[in-house]
Amino acid sequence: MTSIVMRSAAVAGVAVLVSLGVILAIGFLANDLIGLDSWIIGTVCPLLIAGPTSAYMFAQGDRLKAAHRELARTHAQLAVAHRRLSHKASRDDMTGMLNRESFFTAMENAKERTGGALLIIDADHFKAINDSYGHLTGDEALLLIAGAIKRAMRSGDVLGRIGGEEFAAFLHGADEREAARIAERIRTEVELILFRPLERTVRLTVSIGGALFQETMTLPDLMRSADLRLYEAKRRGRNLVIVGNAVSRAA
Ligand code: GH3
Ligand code: MG
Ligand code: MG
Repeated sequence: MTSIVMRSAAVAGVAVLVSLGVILAIGFLANDLIGLDSWIIGTVCPLLIAGPTSAYMFAQGDRLKAAHRELARTHAQLAVAHRRLSHKASRDDMTGMLNRESFFTAMENAKERTGGALLIIDADHFKAINDSYGHLTGDEALLLIAGAIKRAMRSGDVLGRIGGEEFAAFLHGADEREAARIAERIRTEVELILFRPLERTVRLTVSIGGALFQETMTLPDLMRSADLRLYEAKRRGRNLVIVGNAVSRAA
């Protein structure tokens, strides 16, 4: 408020000086004496006009600046909220992994950029765990499996939960050997989980099918190829990895 008064007083002062200067110039050019009333009008008018007008404009300007600052703050808060929301929308609530849609989007980008291999990981006989111990205990088992998969993965690879008890991983730039090695590490890590609902030890295992991305392949081709190997792993008794033509199972 003080600054508005001071700024408008300065503007009014300048306006008075300019006005008096103009009167002086007119008197000089007309070679005439300037009367007292002209000096009074030349002082009072700019004071009355410039003072309140500039005070009003300074106040408006300050209000506008404050509104801009508020807008910028709200904008920044919105951007943070938007980032949080889109992160949440792309994730599976239970495991924190990418959800099905986001996984396929991320994989589509990754496969074109770096090539690599797709693993589909499915928990074995999971329905039996739910049937025997209830859905909540089933959830606990699922979280343990998700944790084991995360531990066995390389950092930076794409990991998602693409179905109830089904996960998928896209391994950047991996060849068949590397994909089989990581799939086997996942299988072993899950097998090592100590799961003891109701004081009983329940064995958790996964079957894994994997396929290498080849340039002519579309995403459904790659999925189908990995899926076929997963079905084959199930058919051959589960707790088994089949990547490309390589099979690896528990010793
Ligand atoms: P398979 O070895 O052939 O894969 O047998 P499976 O029993 O795992 O497969 P099936 O498709 O018959 O059953 C999947 C089960 O996984 C049934 C479903 O209730 C359970 N399931 C899926 N999502 C969840 C979940 O979020 N929590 C729990 N507790 N169970 C889930
Ligand atoms: Mg299953
Ligand atoms: Mg399944």
